[in-house]
Amino acid sequence: MNLFKERDIFFENWLNSMPDGIIVVNNIGEIILFNKQAENLFGYTHQEIEGQKIDVLMPHTYRVAHEHHVANFLHSPSSRNMGESKKEFFGLRKNGTEFPVDISLNYIQTDSGKIAIASIRDITEKKEISQRLIDAMQVMQNANEQLEQFAYIASHDLQEPLKTISSLTELFSKEYKDKISGNGEKYLEFILKSSERMKMLIKGLLDYSKIGKDKQAELIDCTQLVNDVLADLGATIKQCNAHIQVQDLPVLNAYPIELRQLFQNLINNALKYKNKGVEPEVQINVEEQSKYWQFAVSDNGIGINESDKEKVFIIFKRLHNRNEYEGSGIGLSHCKKIAELHGGKIWLESTPTKGSTFYFTIKK
Ligand code: ADP
Repeated sequence: MNLFKERDIFFENWLNSMPDGIIVVNNIGEIILFNKQAENLFGYTHQEIEGQKIDVLMPHTYRVAHEHHVANFLHSPSSRNMGESKKEFFGLRKNGTEFPVDISLNYIQTDSGKIAIASIRDITEKKEISQRLIDAMQVMQNANEQLEQFAYIASHDLQEPLKTISSLTELFSKEYKDKISGNGEKYLEFILKSSERMKMLIKGLLDYSKIGKDKQAELIDCTQLVNDVLADLGATIKQCNAHIQVQDLPVLNAYPIELRQLFQNLINNALKYKNKGVEPEVQINVEEQSKYWQFAVSDNGIGINESDKEKVFIIFKRLHNRNEYEGSGIGLSHCKKIAELHGGKIWLESTPTKGSTFYFTIKK
């Protein structure tokens, strides 16, 4: 049956200009209208297909289930997007090939009964793109896991020979104390100091690779956690006469060891990178957002140049040499990994010589 009449030219043009395939089915499952785009999708002309059962356009495996769906739909019709059911739907072309489709269903009550209007879109390209995205994410995840495994194994295995170097150097300097003089002593001291430093770097790398490995989230009172961190840093705080203000902090679900480390690194840096002769002012604030808790640790320290704002989060990256400020360049890379472990991120705002604010978010 062809619904189009001479006087319905406008309607026909409008229907055929639709980007989706439009198929109208009567209450016994017969196709009564098939627009241009549906012809392009399925390879049938509307003359060929109108009057046939809708099943013709479906792969055989869907046909039985579909009969129930049609009966249900016509019994209690409502507009629905079938893609929302998370099921995959396929169309069957005249040439026997199948293609993935999104289907939106609607209905109209007419004098001759209820009719269903299906709007059909070919999602082959959309599926290919999302599959490519899934594949790329998988590749990235594998690469990340391999990198972490590499960091773990490398740092673990590097510890042994280093221990041997340190202990043999100590033995050597003890046993040959009387025979070494002048530069010899200095060189041995350098070797020992460098070994100690390398030990610290390797430990940092090992700790980095372990972040979130045996993770166990629990409810944490952040006020208590920050107070504990401040107690641990008590000697430093006293020494530089720092003033610290902590806002009321929330109780939230997080990884306790990691979160503590995150606060500790940021507060420690806020005290360490202070302007000479200026007492550090440190503020710890929080802002509740719909999906995140956003924390801020601010200081009145030396600040960071705009061009270094991203670099400081790279492992082993330091902006100062060790004579100016002691450190290993690991702390902020840990912070970044910990924020990401909590579904959040970390960034900073800073004015050189005036101070910095490090922000990080924790997903609720
Ligand atoms: P470390 O402090 O051991 O060098 P971090 O990873 O914690 O390592 O920091 C990386 C670099 O970022 C530091 O070397 C320092 O130059 C800069 N930095 C970190 N925190 C601050 C801060 N609060 N104010 C100014 N510079 C900072």
